[in-house]
Amino acid sequence: MQIGCHVSISGSIDKAVDNAVERKCSAFQIFTRNPRGWHAKELTKEDIANFKSKLKESKIDRFATCAHMPYLPNLASPKDDGFEKSVETLMSETERCAQLGIPYLVTHLGSHLGTGEEAGIKRLVEGLTKAGQTKNDVIILLENTAGQKNSVGSDFKQLGEIFSQLKPAKKFGICFDSCHAFVAGYNLKTEKKVKDVFDEFEKYVGIKNLKILHLNDAKGDVGCNLDRHYHLGLGGIGEKGIASIVKFATKQKIPIILETPIDDDRDDFENVRIAKGFA
Ligand code: MN
Ligand code: MN
Ligand code: ZN
Repeated sequence: MQIGCHVSISGSIDKAVDNAVERKCSAFQIFTRNPRGWHAKELTKEDIANFKSKLKESKIDRFATCAHMPYLPNLASPKDDGFEKSVETLMSETERCAQLGIPYLVTHLGSHLGTGEEAGIKRLVEGLTKAGQTKNDVIILLENTAGQKNSVGSDFKQLGEIFSQLKPAKKFGICFDSCHAFVAGYNLKTEKKVKDVFDEFEKYVGIKNLKILHLNDAKGDVGCNLDRHYHLGLGGIGEKGIASIVKFATKQKIPIILETPIDDDRDDFENVRIAKGFA
């Protein structure tokens, strides 16, 4: 069982490991830098050494860690400058992951900004393929989307079509987000429905390509396309559905990462504890 949550790097990057240990995580996700800007300060030798030594001490398997891309890049952008900057960021983030010994980098698929799915996918495949040429062995994980306006990759069939075009294949994998799948129209409320959804995922994308599972309940109901994460068991997916997803991922040995909110109802310590209870 590998279960944990997204943790902050505030202060210094090795603090992420302290935060993960405090929350009793056996898996975790970070941003390697401020996710709200384009600029990233280079990692120093000291940053890298501290992160690696703390991770080793923590006994958390490095294959249960991942980084998430910052928010600004848009790999499906029709605008040349924005697209190129996005691809450069993706490449440099894989390099930062390699330096830290993090095997996976999760990326969103971007927005075609009204130019249509076909144009967006063409851009996206071009950008990902370019980033796949980097010399490091970090695997880029495509995250299924919530199906918001102008987005691509919420539908498994389309996600599979995008994924199958990427070369070299070994440089790419999938991150399945339960909130995104649910609000995109995949009902995950019961054990049977969860099984059906993963059967469909297997058919179009392949469970073997699934390297990380983002476990989030959803603020809204199935098919609402609203990307609002919620506390496990308290949202539209509910307790039965969340428990079934945890069991599925645990059985398949896929690390589970929570991206749940922290508010008056519950914090991340408690959500991690609850997720473990379902395993
Ligand atoms: Mn994401
Ligand atoms: Mn996610
Ligand atoms: Zn989300």
